[in-house]
Amino acid sequence: MENGKKKDIKSYTKKELEAALLAMGDKAFRAGQIYGWLHQKQAESFDEMTNLSKELRERLSQVYRVDSLKQVQVQESRLDGTKKYLFELHDGHIIESVLMKYRHGNSVCISSQVGCRMGCRFCASTIDGLERNLTPAELLDQIYQIQKLTGERVSHIVVMGSGEPMDNYENLVKFIHMISDKDGLHISQRNITVSTCGLVPQIKRLAEEGLPITLALSLHAPNDEIRKTLMPVANAYQMDEVLDACQYYFAQTGRRITFEYSLVSGVNDSEEAAKELAGRIAHMNCHVNLIPVNPIKERNYKESQKKEILKFQNKLEKCGINVTIRREMGRDIDGACGQLRRSYREKQKKQ
Ligand code: SAH
Repeated sequence: MENGKKKDIKSYTKKELEAALLAMGDKAFRAGQIYGWLHQKQAESFDEMTNLSKELRERLSQVYRVDSLKQVQVQESRLDGTKKYLFELHDGHIIESVLMKYRHGNSVCISSQVGCRMGCRFCASTIDGLERNLTPAELLDQIYQIQKLTGERVSHIVVMGSGEPMDNYENLVKFIHMISDKDGLHISQRNITVSTCGLVPQIKRLAEEGLPITLALSLHAPNDEIRKTLMPVANAYQMDEVLDACQYYFAQTGRRITFEYSLVSGVNDSEEAAKELAGRIAHMNCHVNLIPVNPIKERNYKESQKKEILKFQNKLEKCGINVTIRREMGRDIDGACGQLRRSYREKQKKQ
């Protein structure tokens, strides 16, 4: 069997692995051992699994492959120690992941897809569209590799890198179960945040999964008219529907919603916009995270001035809304979604 045709064993849940082992005529407890090697010890080949017989390792490697990401580049911010990694997937695609160091622990921002098809106007990840979804193994391995490379434990995960996680729903949910599994890295589900541009059916579905994860909703506008100029997804779902889905998420999970709001000069950063936004979310248990837009060279959006940002924050606060201004991490290293991958690929094309 060629390597590409072998099955991706790192994406198997414990149950799936057990069924696979039984089907091969082996004992179910072997599945537990293999799962531990893959997800606790982060083994990258069957040869490392020394408590399995050579014969079993041989049979496994004929049917399965162990997908691991290969680091192709890393950049470290001189400002705050943020590290941005570029990883190569087994089929040659490139993705990016970011390690941010906070007082409360190490947080990794992972990508959920290669590219993205949501088309947000200010975002670099979406310019060439969607290539493919990431597998559970590829979602997990972004964290495994960063832990290996730094030798430090990761305690928090934000699914806020390239891609729309709700557009890769099944793999996302599988990933959340596996990364929090006690036989894996055992990262608390409470320390996981998933960011979405607002796919309403999937938000409702996630609300019913019984997962205590935080939902971050990319709002970026106080009304549909402005939202449509920035985010094509606003043509599919009205803001009212999106906000209702967020209410439902809170009602089901008890988790406070985070609204992300990237401030774009002259587009969504006026005091009237702040007032209108407050009017629409004041009844909700939420908080707003303001992010000055990180300008990308392909578009001519500009970030709001500090003064405007503070005025916007002030207005929201006066209306009783909790607001934070996102501490910008790694601004000196192509910080925003998809920028580093894009500049890397452009350099590759020129060679
Ligand atoms: N697709 C998901 C997650 C990925 S983007 C989503 O839309 O939420 C994570 C956040 O960064 C989103 O709020 C996104 O709108 C925002 N973002 C993307 N590019 C940006 C840029 N250049 N400047 C500021 N924020 C950006």
